[in-house]
Amino acid sequence: MSASVHGQVIAAFGRQYLTRLEDGSELACLTRGKKSEVVCGDVVEVKRTGEASAENGAQGVIERITPRRSLLYRSDAFREKLIAANVTQIVVVVAAEPSFSDELLARCLVAAHDQQIEVLIVLNKCDLAEPAAQARARLEPYRAIGYRVLELSAKQDVSTLRPLLQGHSSVLVGQSGMGKSTLINALLPEAQAATREISSALDSGKHTTTHARLYRLDDESSLIDCPGVQAFGLHHLSFGGIEEGFVEFAPYRGQCRFHDCHHLHEPGCAIRNAVEAGKIDARRLELFQQISQAGC
Ligand code: GDP
Ligand code: ZN
Repeated sequence: MSASVHGQVIAAFGRQYLTRLEDGSELACLTRGKKSEVVCGDVVEVKRTGEASAENGAQGVIERITPRRSLLYRSDAFREKLIAANVTQIVVVVAAEPSFSDELLARCLVAAHDQQIEVLIVLNKCDLAEPAAQARARLEPYRAIGYRVLELSAKQDVSTLRPLLQGHSSVLVGQSGMGKSTLINALLPEAQAATREISSALDSGKHTTTHARLYRLDDESSLIDCPGVQAFGLHHLSFGGIEEGFVEFAPYRGQCRFHDCHHLHEPGCAIRNAVEAGKIDARRLELFQQISQAGC
């Protein structure tokens, strides 16, 4: 019987997981039991089970998940699924064009705040001057409340992004068309080849477009790509949790006339008063109302 070794889950395909072990080798694994809670980014204890079987190619079993630094859920119409663990930074990609959804952006910021994860907003396609100016203006309220916004053109140069990924386990999210794939290919030219290898190792590529993958940038830095994930699920958050994710509300929280104020039409609402006084961006309150009323 071989001893357990530590590894990190770098890809999840159905019930199979590709793990990267401490010695740098990769091992395809299954989990014990029926219901699997393992997710990309998890640090796990793995036991080798011998040679690949003709049936599934798995060569190890995940015995234990070590406690997570953070956990992100995907937004799903029916239930929430885990998508990434141990992330320390969310990189939200928005573009000069097509127009991005500021609601999806706000949702990402709420999820990040809940898990105490840093956020970097990347405004891509800044080679398109006029649309970039408009997008920049839409992001201004986010800069004003302290979020970092990095402007770049993934097609031309991603060198300004690299140092901001250093030392982080980042997850990259964005709506389709924002240039996420272009960005990943510029950062990791070998990523596509690696994806092909992973998918042929695990299941002939059936699920490659919908599952998260972790790429190593260097010893301290990694990047998780979650194809198809536009924003994170917030179902597990309470009203107060969502409220906290609107960080600029903090000085006014608890100051409304009604302690259970939803900042909609109640009289004596400190948040609405702050909007009227120009202290909180009106659009941000609107987004808060949408997100908190949707409850997800
Ligand atoms: P994804 O859906 O987020 O993965 O987006 P893609 O990477 O497929 O990019 C969507 C479109 O935007 C493609 O036509 C890209 O060529 C284009 N695109 C990506 N980055 C840039 C950029 O920096 N500048 C310009 N002008 N177009 C870009
Ligand atoms: Zn209120």
